[in-house]
Amino acid sequence: MTPYQMLLLPGDGIGPEVMAEAERLIGWVNDRGIARIETESDLVGGCAYDAHGEAISDATMARALAVDAVMLGAVGGPKWDGVAYDQRPEAGLLRLRKDLELFANLRPAICYPALADASALKRDRVEGLDIMIVRELTGGVYFGEPKTIVDLGNGQKRAVDTQVYETYEIERIASVAFELARKRKNLVHSAEKRNVMKTGVLWHEVVTKLHRERYSDVKLEHILADNCAMQLVRWPKQFDVIVTDNLFGDMLSDEAAMATGSLGMLPSASLGAADAAARRRALYEPVHGSAPYIAGKGIANPIATIASFAMCLRYSFDLAAAADQIEAAIARVLDQGLRTADISQDGCRTVSTREMGDAIVAALDTD
Ligand code: NAD
Repeated sequence: MTPYQMLLLPGDGIGPEVMAEAERLIGWVNDRGIARIETESDLVGGCAYDAHGEAISDATMARALAVDAVMLGAVGGPKWDGVAYDQRPEAGLLRLRKDLELFANLRPAICYPALADASALKRDRVEGLDIMIVRELTGGVYFGEPKTIVDLGNGQKRAVDTQVYETYEIERIASVAFELARKRKNLVHSAEKRNVMKTGVLWHEVVTKLHRERYSDVKLEHILADNCAMQLVRWPKQFDVIVTDNLFGDMLSDEAAMATGSLGMLPSASLGAADAAARRRALYEPVHGSAPYIAGKGIANPIATIASFAMCLRYSFDLAAAADQIEAAIARVLDQGLRTADISQDGCRTVSTREMGDAIVAALDTD
């Protein structure tokens, strides 16, 4: 069995606590002979700054570029508030995304039935919800030039951000969405604002052409991004995969997240281009941050990180069955009424980070 190589970057705050639980799932994969995963750990964020004076060292970056997948906990915290902008903990994460050329951000919004009452929406809207937002991550208005604030000299200033997309950027993100949809419910919604934006016109044109030429077996719907935001609240279960640009994706994925209950439940994957062997660079991380005020208390919810590892099994190692098993184990533990403090509910038992990890591993073994 050729071993997979993973780099673990637990980071700051609750990062090491939640990563420790994901490592137990890596151990389960190895112990059951499902695959051989070899791991090494390194520093990123504030802890890397403390050790090396930078949020990620060149040596750590070289390791990240060499492995099959990287898993990150979280970075940042008030301890590093005074650090120079270029060395702040988040700079380590941004460098990882940039140097690994991770252009596709996948954020699933899954509502476990046991948590449906914790959602901001009514139970019937969200129970069993399973959608995937595919956000373009390296282009668009966050990076386009010019990006300036100009003093007009008359007491006024002019701020400019530039929304730019080229054909290849739209093609590669839409391909990721179509490929994902084929393994799900075979439906893609492409969200843009072609009614008012030239980038929306090009987005629509490129997605339509790509669909006609390579993915006509997948059902494609075009939707204006503002309508998509409304529909996500009205009836989110109509969606399977939503593909959209960097700015709209930032907002739509946060909106969809609210359907699921808690930040501590949300995993993510960021993928790069496929190489000749169809392998992609990849970074897996929970959506939440370092939650410094609960760090060290043993109460953080490890589910987002464990579910991020399940995404790694599915998208980097092609081990969908093992990913399914982990996700089913999470659902089973929630059904049993176990909750970390962030998702606590009347009539349920509140457990620690470690106890939640124990319960998920135990639920796997009773599968
Ligand atoms: P946060 O996600 O750390 O916390 C927001 C709220 O959610 C807090 O109340 C926190 O206690 C709770 N929470 C988050 N994750 C949880 C978990 N797993 N279990 C239980 N409760 C959880 O966001 P924030 O407070 O805005 O930021 C804190 C620090 O994290 C800042 O330094 C910020 O820059 C950084 N941050 C890092 C990342 C990242 O590493 N990807 C993302 C967001 C924020």
